[in-house]
Amino acid sequence: MNKYDLHSHTKFSDGSLSATELIDLAIERGITHLAITDHDTVKAHLQLAENNYCFEADKICIIKGIEFSSQWNNMGVHIVGLNIDVNSTSIKTAVAHQTQLRLQRVKTIAKKLTQRGFPDITQGAMKLAGDGQVGRPHIAQYMLEEGLVSSVGQAFNKYLGAGKVGDISNVWPDLEQVVEWINAAGGIAVVAHPSRYKMTRTKRRRLMADFSDAGGQAIEVCAGNQVPGVAEEMAIICDEFGFHASVGSDFHNPDYQWVKLGQYPQLPKLCRPVWELF
Ligand code: AMP
Ligand code: MN
Ligand code: MN
Ligand code: MN
Repeated sequence: MNKYDLHSHTKFSDGSLSATELIDLAIERGITHLAITDHDTVKAHLQLAENNYCFEADKICIIKGIEFSSQWNNMGVHIVGLNIDVNSTSIKTAVAHQTQLRLQRVKTIAKKLTQRGFPDITQGAMKLAGDGQVGRPHIAQYMLEEGLVSSVGQAFNKYLGAGKVGDISNVWPDLEQVVEWINAAGGIAVVAHPSRYKMTRTKRRRLMADFSDAGGQAIEVCAGNQVPGVAEEMAIICDEFGFHASVGSDFHNPDYQWVKLGQYPQLPKLCRPVWELF
């Protein structure tokens, strides 16, 4: 029987595993179709191709994906692109653009933190990111290592999370731009973890309407660490807007007990799975 996980991260963004370690874990967990969807980068896919990685063809199918950071109505919204051509001009342009924005953003956050009396975290965070995309998790980890906070969670709660000093607004391209990049790369745009954005139901419906108008085709109905009832709510949205349904754990790290690779609630029966479009 097929088992899908269409949202996961490696070291090339804020995950802890290499691409091959992630794939090995996926095989171990009986996953037959895994999408690697790092934040604003496709390096994992390029590296696998470069090394002619053999996916043990019968065991697992690797779907080329990405998770773009976008902006909608002053809010950060993540859009996953599935089944994209990672060598397309569109993805190359998009990744170059996002990489620049991430580098600028880490400097802006560092400056804001120095104004609060912290040392400059720029180099430390970049070092932790290595040759992957730098993000707030690297800043949080560096702050922890330097003893500036007592945990990564505390770094987010006090300094980096929504509404805090390190939450820089208006950084990312519009939702429409990101959907266009994905579609131009032959992919399927998917709203990531739709229940995680703090907004009213009315506002969520507006987001879905704009996403649909922009050419978006699916939403994550089943995400990791999702409370009961959300999948059913998202299934209704699928029905209303004609979206397909995606499923994904949003796996980052085997040490996070609350999100396991391949673990998410069951897809409601009436949903049309996104893989019908692959
Ligand atoms: P960024 O891509 O730099 O905007 O950082 C967002 C990432 O930070 C998300 O993809 C999560 O992996 C992680 N994250 C968000 N909130 C928290 C939190 N409260 N604690 C730990 N990690 C978080
Ligand atoms: Mn992440
Ligand atoms: Mn996300
Ligand atoms: Mn993610």
